[in-house]
Amino acid sequence: MNLSQLHVLVVGGATGGAATALLLARAGARVTLLEKVAQPRAVGAGIALAENGLAVLESIGLGPAIAASGRAVDAPAVVDARGRMMLAPPRPAPRVRMLRRSALQGLLLDALAAEPRVERQFGAEVIGAERDGRVLARIDGRTVEHRADLVVGADGVHSRIRSAGRFGARVRPPGIPYLRALVEVDAAQGVEAWTGAGIFGSFAVDGGTYFFASAGTRACRRAVAERDLDGLRQVWARAYPASVPLLAAVRRFDDLIFNRVTRVDCQQWVDDRLVLLGDAAHAMAPNLGQGANSALVDAAVLLDELRRAGTLAAGLDAYQQRRRPAVHKVARAAAGLGALAELTNPVARWLRDRLLLPVATRLGGDATPVVMQELPATLLAIGRA
Ligand SMILES: Cc1cc2nc3c(=O)[nH]c(=O)nc-3n(C[C@H](O)[C@H](O)[C@H](O)COP(=O)(O)OP(=O)(O)OC[C@H]3O[C@@H](n4cnc5c(N)ncnc54)[C@H](O)[C@@H]3O)c2cc1C
Repeated sequence: MNLSQLHVLVVGGATGGAATALLLARAGARVTLLEKVAQPRAVGAGIALAENGLAVLESIGLGPAIAASGRAVDAPAVVDARGRMMLAPPRPAPRVRMLRRSALQGLLLDALAAEPRVERQFGAEVIGAERDGRVLARIDGRTVEHRADLVVGADGVHSRIRSAGRFGARVRPPGIPYLRALVEVDAAQGVEAWTGAGIFGSFAVDGGTYFFASAGTRACRRAVAERDLDGLRQVWARAYPASVPLLAAVRRFDDLIFNRVTRVDCQQWVDDRLVLLGDAAHAMAPNLGQGANSALVDAAVLLDELRRAGTLAAGLDAYQQRRRPAVHKVARAAAGLGALAELTNPVARWLRDRLLLPVATRLGGDATPVVMQELPATLLAIGRA
C-alpha cells in the first residue's frame, strides 16, 4: 500500500517506537510520536545490539554513529565464576556492539528531530485508546484526543495500548530481579558469568563498563531490600571475584537500576487499528539479549508488510503472522536459558555444568538464525528501500 496516505500514531519513543516512527515516516507516512517522558534521553544502563538490531539501525543511517559510540564484543561467551568456558559463541562469532542505552536513545531522538514527517510530543502520556484509532493523551495537565489510521503501541511492558485492545495478553508475574549499572572504570570481563549467586555480566562501553547481575538469591534480595550496597558487594565478591572493582566503583545504591524480569505473550498483536510492537507485545527474559533487537526487527517487518499489502488490515495481519511465531521461539529459548543460568543449588549446577551443557553444545548446532529471526540482509534492504 502507499504509505503516504497513512497517519500513524506511535505511542512510546524508546528503541521500538523511535525506530518505527523513523522507518514509517521515511516511507512516506505522516507520524505523530507520543512519549510520556518529557526529556527521554538519559535513561538506562547498557544495551547489546546484535546483527539483527544493527541491520535495522544501519538501514536508517545510524551505522557510523553506532560504530563510533559502541564497543565491539569479541566473543559473547558464558563462563563460570573462575572464567572457565561454559558456552562458547558460534564461529564465526556473531557481531555484537555494546552501547550506553542513553547513547542509542540520543541517536534515535536526533534522527527523529531531523525527520520532517514526524511530529514529536514529549511529556504526552497516553491514558486511553479505542480500536478505531482514537487515542487520549494527557499533556501539560490537558487531555487531548488524537485520531489516526494506525496506532502503534510501542509503550513497553506495561503498555496502555495493550490494555485498550483485545490481544489475549498473558503477563506473567514478575520474576527474578536484575540490577544494572554503568561505572567509569575499565574492568569489563567481556563475558557473562554463571555463578553460585546467579548471572554477572560485564562489557566495555564508551568511557567505562556496563554490568548487570541477578539479584535472586536470598542474600542478594536482603541486601537490595535494605538498600545495603556493601552487603551486595560482599555477596558478589564471594560468588564472583571479578565483580569487586565494578561494584566498588558504584558510588551510591541509587546508581543501580533494578528491573524484574517480566514476560508478556500476546495471542494477537493486532486489534483493528491498534498494533503492538516491542516489549508491549513480547517482553522477554534478558538472557539472549534480544529484547531491544526484537523491537527493532518488529519495526522493520511492520514497514515491509504494510508496503507489500493491498490494505492496512492485510499488512497488519501479515506482520503478526511473520513476527509472532519467530519472537515466540526466541522468548521461549531466552526463558529456558535464564532458568539454567539462575540455578543456585550446587547439585543442579554440577549436573548442568558437567552433563547438560557439554551434551547440549555437542548436539545443539548453531541457533543464530532462530535468535536473529530475520536475515540481517533482509532487514537492511527493508529500511533502505
Ligand atoms: C527506562 C528504561 C531503561 C531501560 N534500561 C535498559 C538497559 O539498561 N539495558 C537493557 O538491555 N534494556 C533496558 N531497558 C529495556 C529495553 O530498552 C527494552 O526491553 C527494549 O528496548 C524494548 O523497547 P521498547 O521500545 O519496546 O520498550 P521500552 O524501551 O520499554 O520503551 C517504552 C517507551 O514507552 C513510553 N511509554 C510507556 N507508557 C507510555 C504511555 N502511556 N504514553 C506514552 N509513552 C509511554 C516509555 O516512557 C518508554 O519510553 C530499559 C527500558 C526502560 C523503559
